[in-house]
Amino acid sequence: MKLILLGAPGAGKGTIANLLAAQSGAVQISTGDILRGAVEAGNELGKQAQAFMSRGELVPDELVMDLMESRLREPDCAQGFLLDGFPRTIPQAQALGELFAKLGLALDLAVNIEVPRDVILDRLTTRRTCENPACQAIYNIKSKPPQVDGVCDKCGGNIVQRADETTDAIAHRLRTYADKTAPLIDYYEQLGVLLTTRSTSSEDIVAAVTAQLADNG
Ligand code: AMP
Repeated sequence: MKLILLGAPGAGKGTIANLLAAQSGAVQISTGDILRGAVEAGNELGKQAQAFMSRGELVPDELVMDLMESRLREPDCAQGFLLDGFPRTIPQAQALGELFAKLGLALDLAVNIEVPRDVILDRLTTRRTCENPACQAIYNIKSKPPQVDGVCDKCGGNIVQRADETTDAIAHRLRTYADKTAPLIDYYEQLGVLLTTRSTSSEDIVAAVTAQLADNG
C-alpha cells in the first residue's frame, strides 16, 4: 500500500492514516510529526523549520524533500507507507514523482478527505496534542478528552494546545491549504489515482479506501 492523504488541516488525515496503518502494516509517515520532533530536539532541521511552523506557513520544499527522501529509503517502508501531510505543494508532488521513479515505486492512491469548514474549525480549536515528541497523541477536549485532565493516557506527558492551533495560525494554515495544497487534487485526478471522500466518519473513509484498493487489484 503506497498512499497519499490529502485534506485541509483538521480533515482527519492522521486518524485515517493511523487506522489504515494498523489494518495493513504499512507505516504512517507524517511530515508534521517529524518536523515537530525536530523542533523539539532542537536539531538543524528543527531550527530551520520552527519559524515557518509557528506562523502556520509551509516549511520550504527543499527541507521537506530531503527529509522525505531519507525517510522513504528506510527499510520499514518496504511494507508500504501512508503519507500524511505530504506532499503539500505542486513542486513537492513533482519531486515525489521523481523520487518514486528513482526508488522504483508506484503510487496506489491519493485520498482527498473533504470536510466542511465549520467542522474543521471546531476540530482544530478543540484539539490538544501530547507534547512528548515521541508520542504526539491527539486528544479533543470535547469528543476525546484524556482520562486525567492535561495528562496523556499513553505516556503520561503533558497535553497542550499546539502553537499553530491558535485562531490566527489556523486561519493562516487554511489559507495556505487553499492556495498551495488544494491544487494537488486536480494534479492527482489527472494522474488517475484520486479518491475523494466526503464523509466525516473515519470508519466509512477507511472502508472506501480499502474497497478502492481492492478494486484496483
Ligand atoms: P501538520 O501537522 O501536517 O498540519 O503540519 C504542521 C506544520 O508543519 C505545517 O503547518 C507546516 O508548517 C509544516 N509541514 C508539515 N508538512 C509539510 C510539508 N509537506 N511541506 C511543508 N511544510 C510542512
